[in-house]
Amino acid sequence: MAQKRDYYEVLGVDRNASEAEIKKAYRRLAKMYHPDMNPNDKTAEAKFKEAAEAYEVLSDPQKRAQYDQFGHAFSDAGGFSGFGGGFSGGFTDFDFGDIFETFFGSSMFGGRTRSTRRGPQKGTDLHFEMELSFEESIFGVEKEIPINKMHVCSKCDGSGSKPGSKPSTCQQCGGAGQVQYKQRTPFGQFVNIKTCDACHGEGKIITNPCSECNGRGRVKKSAKIKIKVPAGISDGQVIPLRGAGEPGSNGGPAGDIYFTIRVKPHPIFTREGNNIFCEIPITFTQAALGAEIEVPTVYGKEKFVIPEGTQTGTRFRLKGKGAPNLRTNIKGDQYFTVNVEVPRKLNEKQKSVLREFAELIGDEVHEQRKSFFDKMKNALGM
Ligand SMILES: [Zn+2]
Ligand SMILES: [Zn+2]
Repeated sequence: MAQKRDYYEVLGVDRNASEAEIKKAYRRLAKMYHPDMNPNDKTAEAKFKEAAEAYEVLSDPQKRAQYDQFGHAFSDAGGFSGFGGGFSGGFTDFDFGDIFETFFGSSMFGGRTRSTRRGPQKGTDLHFEMELSFEESIFGVEKEIPINKMHVCSKCDGSGSKPGSKPSTCQQCGGAGQVQYKQRTPFGQFVNIKTCDACHGEGKIITNPCSECNGRGRVKKSAKIKIKVPAGISDGQVIPLRGAGEPGSNGGPAGDIYFTIRVKPHPIFTREGNNIFCEIPITFTQAALGAEIEVPTVYGKEKFVIPEGTQTGTRFRLKGKGAPNLRTNIKGDQYFTVNVEVPRKLNEKQKSVLREFAELIGDEVHEQRKSFFDKMKNALGM
């Protein structure tokens, strides 16, 4: 598949463009490149399709969020669901007029007609949570997860009938799946149609049910599903696995599986966006004199020189030691805040040295205290 352009770039809008801005940008492009305006112009046609595809994703908050997280990565591997049937599989029978109309009428690719009971139905979507360690979320991981779900019965191939036997036509409806019944009311006689309750609308009855699935055509079993978690994923993000859900019925597509990521808290690191934060205790003398310290990062220990006179609560940055961006792989930064520890238990010798130090320093007033005393004087009118 050719390299796809970024959807925001296609529409020429900012990454945080509002829905209205996206709509406006799309309308402009759709008018400009509409095939009616550019007959037999392949470039315009391609641009028109590209814009429509970008709009289809960015105009839907859910798809947009997914795109922001995963880029084209997931859409290429089977796609965001429901590109109106046209987009992901190439543009063979693509009706421009139709799209244009729907879009300017109401919403683009409006809902498709609901399938009837006997028509193809999409399989059930399944939702799971996936717990990751902090490190797994940073570096990505491949997991095999046992999933308990319905599978097409392998013994009867989903027919529900014992191998070698066939379902018989329903006696009650004659195979129509529906029955007519007459109803007398004071206003006259009405003919109603309802789903046949003998065959539940199927038109056929399984007379010789498969022993494996008891005629249901599907069985619940556990199967391992392999899933690749991309590096940099964060808590609450959702990984879709298209078509990995339960099988569809009557030729309908399989459902999807959605994994919501839960990242276990780390003993020292926290994360916001792609930046990682931690706190580092330093001694009172390290703070006063400056020191080279070792700072833990998810990529290993880093040496860092804190300057002399470092105050407690000062935050330092280690560039590029944060989490990778899911789309660009560019790493965020790590910030660490130093906490100066005041010694609690001093022996006599240490105390006497500190007393000596206190005498040396005398009434010297340092910046922070100076500004504090100035403020206090002003506040109290001293
Ligand atoms: Zn079976
Ligand atoms: Zn029937």
